[in-house]
Amino acid sequence: MAKRDYYEVLGVDKSASPDEMKKAYRKMAIKYHPDKNPDDKEAEEKFKEAAEAYEVLSNEEKKRQYDQFGHAGMNGGAGFGGGGMNMDDIFSHFGDIFGDMGGSPFESFFGGGRNRRGRTSVGSNIRIKLKLSLEEVTKGVEKKIKFKKKVVAAGVTFDTCSTCGGRGQVTRVQNTFLGQMQTSSACPTCGGQGKKIKNVPPGADGMGLKTEEVTTTINIPAGVSDGLQLSVQGKGNEVAGGVAGDLIVLIEEQAHPELQRDGNNIVYNLHISFPQAALGTEVEVPTVGGKARLKIEAGTQSGKVLRLRGKGIPELNGYRTGDQLIYINVYTPAKLNNNEKELMKQLLDSENFTPDPSKEKGFFEKMKDFFH
Ligand SMILES: [Zn+2]
Repeated sequence: MAKRDYYEVLGVDKSASPDEMKKAYRKMAIKYHPDKNPDDKEAEEKFKEAAEAYEVLSNEEKKRQYDQFGHAGMNGGAGFGGGGMNMDDIFSHFGDIFGDMGGSPFESFFGGGRNRRGRTSVGSNIRIKLKLSLEEVTKGVEKKIKFKKKVVAAGVTFDTCSTCGGRGQVTRVQNTFLGQMQTSSACPTCGGQGKKIKNVPPGADGMGLKTEEVTTTINIPAGVSDGLQLSVQGKGNEVAGGVAGDLIVLIEEQAHPELQRDGNNIVYNLHISFPQAALGTEVEVPTVGGKARLKIEAGTQSGKVLRLRGKGIPELNGYRTGDQLIYINVYTPAKLNNNEKELMKQLLDSENFTPDPSKEKGFFEKMKDFFH
């Protein structure tokens, strides 16, 4: 089935403000909420469709991508959060959507909060650290990751839970001054799964799980940075009768021996000799893509900054790429032999070797020029 246009889903036009979109989404979320439409597959689909549309249109970056490329633009990137949303995601965002209305309307509409996880049990998340080199951060990389996780052992069989009859929920009727009220909560016997494990195969624990080492390939997009967490849906621990948790990858940037990262720029400190600065020269500098040749003009001052455009790091989910900046440091010799001393003494009184502050901009002025 073809995907409907996100604007059409929310019933807003393209020029709608973020506030208008939020309101439109709230209306949809309330109308198609699963608590209001139990066992209605169509309502559930509409509920998910609206959540997905709002997830994209409420995010400036994603909205721009969608406006430009339509649905085709949404599956790109690295496969993180690009696909459909599950109920957990949707409920976990409700705090943002309904928070400013003074509490969730579902508490008042549907009597008693709902389990955020909905009716499905979810396996726990797995967190792993992933070390990336500057090259990998700059270009993006496909990584094979090996880790241990809990998987449902083959041959696990289930019995329907007798407490809840497989519904996963138990309903209590209470008499209140408003009359009889029904409250539902997760079944205490099966924890909301609606079933109990009947046969546990050898090697599995009481939950029907086995620990296995698995390998998965994930695409790291260019432009990630230290401390960023990427979550890969459904690659975490499994749970019998439920859905798997997420694999959460924590990015750790490793230092490069010569290059440093500064935001999306890459900084290289170039040291040249005094004669090189005075006479001009050509040098090789390291970049992420290999060596680059660079011309140093005669009369280059210490503190000058050269720029290799586009040789930096791409913005994550963006369109700009940083530059490589080359900071020039002119080396003053610390030790001289007699010959060299003689040469220097000859230059000492030369007019050309005498700094003239009126002609030379100071270092800070140059930096200002550079950044504006
Ligand atoms: Zn039960």
